[in-house]
Amino acid sequence: MKHVPDATADPRFESDNTVDRVGVDGLLSELDEYAVEQALQLKEGTDEEVTVTALTVGPEKAADAVRKALQMGADQGVHVQDEAIAGSDAIATSLVLAKAIEKIGSVDVVLCGMASTDGAMSVVPAMLAERLGLPQVTLGSRIERKESQLAVQRDGDTATEVVIGTMPLVASVTDQSGEARYPSFKGIMAAKKKPLETYSLGDLGVDSGEVGLSVAWSAVEETTERPPRTAGEIVKDEDGSGATALVEFLASKKFI
Ligand SMILES: Cc1cc2nc3c(=O)[nH]c(=O)nc-3n(C[C@H](O)[C@H](O)[C@H](O)COP(=O)(O)OP(=O)(O)OC[C@H]3O[C@@H](n4cnc5c(N)ncnc54)[C@H](O)[C@@H]3O)c2cc1C
Repeated sequence: MKHVPDATADPRFESDNTVDRVGVDGLLSELDEYAVEQALQLKEGTDEEVTVTALTVGPEKAADAVRKALQMGADQGVHVQDEAIAGSDAIATSLVLAKAIEKIGSVDVVLCGMASTDGAMSVVPAMLAERLGLPQVTLGSRIERKESQLAVQRDGDTATEVVIGTMPLVASVTDQSGEARYPSFKGIMAAKKKPLETYSLGDLGVDSGEVGLSVAWSAVEETTERPPRTAGEIVKDEDGSGATALVEFLASKKFI
């Protein structure tokens, strides 16, 4: 799960045009709360012993995202933090996540959100599956475990399909998968005692030259302030010419 800058705050950039993830308020990406919820439901739906591990890659504050998942009910947390990771692209992020998952041990399901609310590329789950050599079923609106398989419902524009994957697998879930629970007071207190481990790149056997801005395949070259909103143009239909004026306006903006 990803710790992201609060979308209601003004995004800020560092001098190298990377997103300021340290000096701004952040939170567990809302879309990742759905993945936590589904992980907890999978655990609650079986008598087997299941451990839900919340994993994030990010700067110091990103541990807050893991803490939130622990408060919701996850059993343990892992936070990969290393200065060299700053400015990484999705490719490097997926490398670090994959190595961390391998270090955590054998997993049955890697659950991700559908996209992070800051980057929103929706590629990390697929990259993770490739790196881990696991099947993937992305963008599920409903997941159901059937013994060693996971049935994942995917809602398209014109059809709904159910894809069945054999575990271990990587799955991502959408915001249609079911409301995420709020941490209860009991959950908040219990989370304080749950283990939260921090890994560095060295712990994962990842070379610092494999991550970071210098090896990113994409980089932001320039950022500019969004211009302030200007007053809109009001078309008044007093003499029946309103429709024409509206069409002319839309045509001038190349909307039609
Ligand atoms: C410390 C750090 C600093 C970065 N700084 C910048 C920057 O300044 N500018 C910039 O353009 N890019 C930066 N990145 C890279 C950018 O955040 C990545 O592209 C990224 O993490 C993938 O996000 P996405 O929106 O593309 O993922 P998506 O593919 O949209 O995300 C899908 C799902 O993958 C999972 N996921 C994605 N990222 C993480 C993560 N880090 N930890 C755990 N789960 C995750 C989540 O469940 C998420 O819902 C940084 C990355 C890190 C880790």
